[in-house]
Amino acid sequence: MSAPIAIVGAGLAGLGAAHTLRTAGREVRLFDKGRSAGGRVASRRRERWQFDHGAQFATVRTAEFAAALAPLQRAGQVQRWLGPFRTLANGRFGGDPRPEAERWVGVPGMSALARGLAEGLSIATEVKIETLRREADGWWLGGVAAGGGAMVREGPFAAVLLTLPPPQAQALLAASGLGGPVAAAAGELAAALQPCLAGLVAFAEPVAGAEGGLFVADDVLSWIAHDGGKPGRGGAATYVLHATAAWSLANFDHQPAVNAAALVAAFARVSGRALPAVVHVEGHRWRYALASGDGVPGGAVVDRELGLALAGDSLVGGRVEGAFGSGVAAARVLLAH
Ligand SMILES: Cc1cc2nc3c(=O)[nH]c(=O)nc-3n(C[C@H](O)[C@H](O)[C@H](O)COP(=O)(O)OP(=O)(O)OC[C@H]3O[C@@H](n4cnc5c(N)ncnc54)[C@H](O)[C@@H]3O)c2cc1C
Repeated sequence: MSAPIAIVGAGLAGLGAAHTLRTAGREVRLFDKGRSAGGRVASRRRERWQFDHGAQFATVRTAEFAAALAPLQRAGQVQRWLGPFRTLANGRFGGDPRPEAERWVGVPGMSALARGLAEGLSIATEVKIETLRREADGWWLGGVAAGGGAMVREGPFAAVLLTLPPPQAQALLAASGLGGPVAAAAGELAAALQPCLAGLVAFAEPVAGAEGGLFVADDVLSWIAHDGGKPGRGGAATYVLHATAAWSLANFDHQPAVNAAALVAAFARVSGRALPAVVHVEGHRWRYALASGDGVPGGAVVDRELGLALAGDSLVGGRVEGAFGSGVAAARVLLAH
């Protein structure tokens, strides 16, 4: 029996890799510093409200992602979001820019999609991996657990797959004194992820004319979603506002609450209407949000000699489904070697 494979990061890339390795009969262990699996596929609860503050929906085009989601779709844990989807520029609404696209969401929140994919996997959450060491018997991971801050040492592993955003992978590899193709790729892709500031807002009543999802052409806002109108959310008057990459970069260090208020003001401006009373508003900062660029050939980088690999959305040009596919690609190369 071969030693297990370690995956650092249990976002969609980590989950895609874990599915592939498990299906091939390999033992897998995932480590994530977050409180649950999913990474940027996340939902946040506040009082009686809930918001998908990261990924808004997923496309399901590839056979592997379709196969992984099929049981969740059958169980109603992932459902199609019918929008409507429109463009919005200077107060004028247009049609769906991609009318052929099917957009799927977790129910009752995007985190349910990640939770479903994580089911049955061995995932250590709230564990931040800080060092990787290749010893005679295999890889050993060192880190720290949240809460008490207890030191963690886990191993040996036959191989390690990193699915953290490239700047974080780069820091981990540097702290571990590791070079080679994986470190080189993490360095090259370090600037691929752009930030996104999010505003999470609940109004006293739904905003007329802002149903579904709006792809906004504006200096400040890029996206407005009637979050409470997604399947299984009960029609709550909750909205998620995402800022453009340029505005996010320029305002990243301001207080999240100040940014969220600015995003609400931009919502009123771009929609050209007075908004209902705000009953809750907060901001969230995504330092590494959306990937730009095309990624790398094959969607993953694997150092076969060391048994070390890098996957994630920035290696495939972004998106939920892309991240899952990048994890699958890395796992297939590891299995072949
Ligand atoms: C605001 C926003 C809107 C988006 N909208 C969409 C959308 O509508 N549709 C779409 O398809 N995509 C969307 N995306 C992009 C999509 O969410 C990502 O492409 C995808 O989720 C990335 O998955 P990943 O596994 O590559 O990375 P991540 O989800 O970032 O996973 C990396 C994981 O690594 C963990 N980690 C980091 N460092 C360590 C460490 N040292 N030790 C242990 N764990 C660590 C993190 O906690 C995280 O869980 C959006 C993203 C954002 C932020």
